[in-house]
Amino acid sequence: MPASSLETIVSLCKRRGFVFPSSSVYGGLGSTWDYGPLGVELKNNVKRAWWRSVVHERDDMEGLDAAILMNRLVWKYSGHEATFSDPMTDCRACKARPRADHVFVAQKGRDPKGLVEINAAIAAKELSCPKCGSKDLTEARPFNLMFRTSVGPVDTGDESGLVYLRPETAQGMFVNFGNVLDTMRRKLPFGIAQVGKAFRNEITPGNFTFRTREFEQMEIEYFVRPGEDEAAHEMWIAERKKWYLDLGLRAENLRVREQEKHELAHYAKRCVDLEYLFPMGWSELEGIANRTDFDLKAHSRSPGNPDAVGELHYFDQEQKKHYVPYVIEPSAGADRGTLAFLCDAYEDSLVKEPAAEDTAKLRDLVENFARSVGRREGMDVDVKQRLQAAAETIAAGLPGTLPRLIGLMDDAEAGKIEVMKKVRGVGEKIAEEHTRTVLHLHPRLAPLTVAVFPLKRNEPRLVELARSIKRDLQRAGMRAVYDDTGAIGKLYRRQDEIGTPWCVTVDFQSLDDQTVTVRDRDTMQQERAPLAEIGPTLSARLR
Ligand code: ATP
Repeated sequence: MPASSLETIVSLCKRRGFVFPSSSVYGGLGSTWDYGPLGVELKNNVKRAWWRSVVHERDDMEGLDAAILMNRLVWKYSGHEATFSDPMTDCRACKARPRADHVFVAQKGRDPKGLVEINAAIAAKELSCPKCGSKDLTEARPFNLMFRTSVGPVDTGDESGLVYLRPETAQGMFVNFGNVLDTMRRKLPFGIAQVGKAFRNEITPGNFTFRTREFEQMEIEYFVRPGEDEAAHEMWIAERKKWYLDLGLRAENLRVREQEKHELAHYAKRCVDLEYLFPMGWSELEGIANRTDFDLKAHSRSPGNPDAVGELHYFDQEQKKHYVPYVIEPSAGADRGTLAFLCDAYEDSLVKEPAAEDTAKLRDLVENFARSVGRREGMDVDVKQRLQAAAETIAAGLPGTLPRLIGLMDDAEAGKIEVMKKVRGVGEKIAEEHTRTVLHLHPRLAPLTVAVFPLKRNEPRLVELARSIKRDLQRAGMRAVYDDTGAIGKLYRRQDEIGTPWCVTVDFQSLDDQTVTVRDRDTMQQERAPLAEIGPTLSARLR
């Protein structure tokens, strides 16, 4: 069972050092997140697996790492300055700021013909605020999603130093098309891959790391002969889907969705989204678009673009002619991918029933907590409803809902209610003894590959052997750690929770016969194995 609520994942991420709210010592910065020690390992592994699959394991791809800051003209001719914006309206009654086109579609059942029609509907009081129902909406205005900054030491007040933080990595690849083609002596079809930060001043960020204003993309621009674009598009749809499945995403949680005509960007001939069944519903993981020759033409010198220095085209030796290649763009989010792998890998379960009186005591406390939330003044209505609903469901389902209670106990808002201290006092102990949380991450994605424990920490010979095994595994290229800070059962549980696929335990027998116990996270089976075989066996399983 993958995670059923995003809160469970947020709570695990915070508790175990995957993801922290950014700048929390100053109260945070909304919808901005920092990857902690385990999160950075996981996300790096996702990016590495992607790079290996789309660059190293193919013969038709090159990598690139273009600068985030680019000449402003790139964004002029790519169309972003003019069109990369959403129409927003403000509700004068509740101060919400919904996307006016979404309100139009939801309430009138069809797409608007443009800003003019949206504003006519607002003026005629035909649209209402999706949050509070008021019809007192301001005229919709386009809101540009690109972050602006300026280069140079002096802010001249005009726009001469204006640059944008790139809203996608794609343009860096288009404007380098000629450089890569010439220096790498490439023939079509070939592609460029790039991983890097992108920035969008999103109006509605949220759902943890799913939609943020600063995020990382893993993008490919694959250039083909016009006419061969449709087959290349199919190839990439299949390849990219396979990549997620090979890394363990469950097939039933991944789907291919064809974008409808009205959803297509103006330059796209066809676009297919790979969607994942996140706890909040099916949502885009990656878009795979056929962008035709739009981008290379846009950055080529022409009557419409007198600023470009030349033409981005291709000389086909076989056909003895110049033409502008078509491009297929598989564009994935590193953060969204990481979140999907986390959600999919998550499993929690009740491993044994707590005593009935303990459950009853805990239920009383959680019900008490729900009532306190209800009485609490000055708390945001949404937060109040969320906490109350969660507490009521948990109380009704105990002890089966113990894993969900762990999430609630970690919730910063819940911590503001006094009675939560008592809930924690009783709940943490019961949860620790009776639940098991596991991340069934693919071994190649797991932040740690192997943890090594001595059976007794006050036995120098065991400690020394365990440490030396850990060092050998590190030298063999694995992410290995040593831990002796608890009883073995507890150490296994901690590693399960962060997805470490294997634990190695050194005991007294190890000193005699040079064998150790290797415990598998998913099956919980323990096997005795000769020391010398561990490195090669685990390395082979990582491949
Ligand atoms: P959405 O409609 O979900 O905002 P999009 O269609 O605007 O996404 P694209 O422009 O196609 O997204 O970007 C390609 C990929 O980059 C997306 O599939 C997603 O994985 C990632 N991505 C885009 N915007 C964000 C964001 N604000 N936060 C995190 N990842 C993002």
